[in-house]
Amino acid sequence: MILRVLKYIGLALLVLVVILAVKTALYKAPDYAPADAAALPDVTVDVERIVANMAEAVTYETVAQHLVDPLVKGQFTGFLEWIEQTYPGVHASMDREMANLTPIYKWTGKNPEAQPVLMTGHYDVVPAPDAERDRWQHPPFAGIADADFVWGRGTIDDKIGVIGLLEAAETLISKGFQPERTIYFIFGHDEEIGGQNGAGAAVELLRARGVQMEWSLDEGSMVLDDVLPGLPAPVASINVAEKGYVTLNITAKSTGGHSSLPPADTAVGALAVAVERLMANPVPGGLTDATADFFDSVAPEFGLVERVLFANQWLFRPVLEGILSGSGPTNAMLRTTTAPTMLQASLTENVLPTEAVAVVNFRIHPRDTVESVVAHVEAVINNPEVEVTVRGEPTLPSPVSSSESEGFQLLAQATLGAFGDVILVPGLTVAGTDTKHFSKISDDSYRFNPMTFGPDDLSRIHGINERVSIADLERAVQFYAQIMMGLDG
Ligand SMILES: [Zn+2]
Repeated sequence: MILRVLKYIGLALLVLVVILAVKTALYKAPDYAPADAAALPDVTVDVERIVANMAEAVTYETVAQHLVDPLVKGQFTGFLEWIEQTYPGVHASMDREMANLTPIYKWTGKNPEAQPVLMTGHYDVVPAPDAERDRWQHPPFAGIADADFVWGRGTIDDKIGVIGLLEAAETLISKGFQPERTIYFIFGHDEEIGGQNGAGAAVELLRARGVQMEWSLDEGSMVLDDVLPGLPAPVASINVAEKGYVTLNITAKSTGGHSSLPPADTAVGALAVAVERLMANPVPGGLTDATADFFDSVAPEFGLVERVLFANQWLFRPVLEGILSGSGPTNAMLRTTTAPTMLQASLTENVLPTEAVAVVNFRIHPRDTVESVVAHVEAVINNPEVEVTVRGEPTLPSPVSSSESEGFQLLAQATLGAFGDVILVPGLTVAGTDTKHFSKISDDSYRFNPMTFGPDDLSRIHGINERVSIADLERAVQFYAQIMMGLDG
């Protein structure tokens, strides 16, 4: 009897191993490389000029958070005048109008009836706090270029987008080129503070005229080199969706009074329990939707163990989701994230507060909504004495754009043209960009900056020693120029 049971168990295990092996052997990445992979024409670019112009662009201290200061506003208008002088071809060949300090350029195509496209970047930057300045290798607004990098605030985020697009257009215009289709450019001036007066106003202006783009391209991802350990090649993530944003006030109330006679239940105590419950119970997520597409594309390139796990998600999905939830960046791709950011209670050490408030910021995965996040929070806190209210204006997660459209294929082709052997995947932007505005006038919206990012580069975004490599600057201009040339009529 026991022998027979053991035989069945052995047989079952054997069948399982065979299924795992066959599934792993058959596991292939979906191919996002364009079907018609004829190379786009090469563009010769003037690297010295690009580096000099990028370095000069950095010297304009276009800090959106300080825009109320008239002296700072001068940095913005100065930058716009500098663009006019530095890119005379752009200025002569395109129409320009302003939405506050955000220019909208229109480069009319040979076939003005064809649906236009939109290419964008933002020229505002985040501050470089005085207290951190001595930790910069080169001063953040000096515009220093050495043999390999241009250093300074805004190089990555996002003057590479603005300068890359302008250099590409100027280069092509100097060769007598006109695009087949009309291209709009919008260079936002307040992305870092929400983009309402810049990209938002520009979009309203174009929408009122009935302008609808086939697709838009903005910042939002890059070529990730060695950021996901275990991959043999860099990953170019062309992001097809963007998370939303909602902040909640979690408020616990109590009668207050003198701290010498505290009751058993205080507002601070109830709030602490509520926050603890929120952290212990993340918003449910998982390997589905845009996140599943991303991992399905990269997973076959991993080593054997990862391939076995990803190829057999019918069995190992809970294990995989556990592993991916364990690290910040992959967890952010899997679910709506929970981040308590501010706490407020009594202003005096011996007075019990009548109210204690925690401010918690959530980045909403495309599968969730503001309502579903609020419902989750209320259910998890499970205390009718604790109030949950929405703070400010939430942003809904974006729609998910097509990874099969002509626009995606063109971006994919230009990425392969500029960066060579990379794993091409559609991804999810976990932060916010101006595309929350652009998607209102675009059938599809894509987010990708043509630059390479290693593991130590993530901390440079909004951080110390922000810089862009000269090799990437050259590739960026080629990338944008190839797209402009690749647009069909
Ligand atoms: Zn940015």
